Amino acid sequence: MKSAILTCAALLAASPALLAAAEVTKGFGPSDSGFKLDPVLPPALDDAAAKATFSIIDGQKDGASPDLAVLNDGKMPVGEDQPSANFFFANGSAGGRIGVDLGSVIDVAGVATYSWHRQGRGPQVYKLYAADGKAKDFNAAPKNGTDPKTCGWVLLAEVDTRPKTGNGGGQHAAEVSNKNRKPLGEFRHLLFDVSRTSDDSFGNTFFSEVDVLDAKQSDVQRIKPLEKIVKNYKSKDGKFRYIIDSTKAPALTEWSEKELLPVIEEWYPKLVEMLPSDGYRAPDQVTFEYRDDMGGTPAYAAGNRIALSAPWFPGQLKREAKGCVVHEMGHVVQNYWRARQTNRQPKDTPGWVTEGICDYIRWFLFEPQSNGAHVRDVGQAKYDASYRITGNFLDWVIKEKDKDLLKKLNASAREGKYEEKLWKDWTGKTVQELGDEWKKAVEEGKR
Ligand SMILES: [Zn+2]
Repeated sequence: MKSAILTCAALLAASPALLAAAEVTKGFGPSDSGFKLDPVLPPALDDAAAKATFSIIDGQKDGASPDLAVLNDGKMPVGEDQPSANFFFANGSAGGRIGVDLGSVIDVAGVATYSWHRQGRGPQVYKLYAADGKAKDFNAAPKNGTDPKTCGWVLLAEVDTRPKTGNGGGQHAAEVSNKNRKPLGEFRHLLFDVSRTSDDSFGNTFFSEVDVLDAKQSDVQRIKPLEKIVKNYKSKDGKFRYIIDSTKAPALTEWSEKELLPVIEEWYPKLVEMLPSDGYRAPDQVTFEYRDDMGGTPAYAAGNRIALSAPWFPGQLKREAKGCVVHEMGHVVQNYWRARQTNRQPKDTPGWVTEGICDYIRWFLFEPQSNGAHVRDVGQAKYDASYRITGNFLDWVIKEKDKDLLKKLNASAREGKYEEKLWKDWTGKTVQELGDEWKKAVEEGKR
C-alpha cells in the first residue's frame, strides 16, 4: 500500500494539473451489443479525438490493418472479425505505441477506447500517458525503450480488459476518467503504450475507436444503438407470412422490399407446390435475416429461418443474390430435418440429393437464362457431385426419363425413405446407369 501512495504523490508532484490517479471503467458485451457497453457510453462522433492527429510512435501496423484514421472516424466495424475496420499492430509483434496530438492543450475529461473481435483480439491492454508538451525535456515520440515518465509524460492509467477466464471475444470498452468527474488534467498529447493480449501471434487487439472528451464540450454526439429494422409481409392470399430483418444491413432494406420480396412472394408458394408429400404442410412463416457473423458462407437455412450474409449480398444484387435465396427457400420447404420426427427408422438422405434439388430448382426453373449449371468440364460430370452439377443431372433425368421425379425424390427424402434402389423403381435404371448416360450427353455437349 505504501508504494501505491508514494506513486500517487509522485504523479501529483510531476503534474500539478493531475488531481488524482484516474479510474479505469470497463464495459464488455457480446458481438451483437452494438457498442452499448454499460457503464461506458457508446462511442462519440464529435469528440476531441475526431480532429486529432494520430501517429505510430513505435511498432508496425499489420499489413491487413488500415491506417490509424479508423480510430477517430466515428465509424464502428459491423462484423466481429473485420480487419478492414480496426487498427491492429502486426501479427507476431508485441504491440507498439500510438501518439495522439490534440492540436492544443485542452481540459481532458476522459479517454475511451473501443475494440471488437470474436476471439482473443477483443480485449485491450495498454498504458495511457498524457502530456501538455510544455516540459523542457519533452519528447513527443518516445520509443519502446524509453520510459515516457522520464521525458515529460505522466502515466494516467493502466488498462487491461482481459477476463479472468476465456479468450475475451466480444466488444470491449475502457474509459479512463476520474470517479468524481473532475477532469484528468490539461493535456495536448496522449500516448498509448499497447501490449498484445497474449503470446499468441494473433494477440494484437482490434482497436475500433478512440475518444477523447473535452471537459468544455457539453453535448457530445454518440453513435445510436442499433435500430431494429424488421418488416412483416403477408402473402395476398393470406397463407404465408414473410419477415425480413435487415437490422445488420440497413442499406439492403429497400432492395429487399422492392427486388427480393417479389421473388419470395412468387417462389415460396411455387416451391411449396413443387415439393409436396402426403400429410405435409410447409412452414407458413419464413424469416430472412441479414447477419454479419457468417464467415464466408453466403446464406444458410435452419428450420424456417434463412440467414443472409450482410457483407456478401451487396456485391451480388445483380448476380447471385436472388437465386441464392430461392435455393435456401428450397431447404425451408424440404424440411428434411423432419424425417427424424416422423419416421422411427429414417434413412439418411445424402447431401448431394438435398443440395441438388435446391440447385435444380434454382438454375433450371428460376433462372434458366443464366446457364449457371452448365457443366463445362466433363471430368466434373458426376451425378453425385452435388449442387449445380447434380442439379444438371436431375434436370436431365426429369426431361429424359421421368417428369415426376422431383416429387418422388423429395417425398422419399422428407419421409426418411430415400435409398438408391428407388432410382431403378422410378426410371428402370440404376442411378449409376443414369449417371453414365447423362455423362455421355454432357460429353456430346448437350448439357
Ligand atoms: Zn443448400
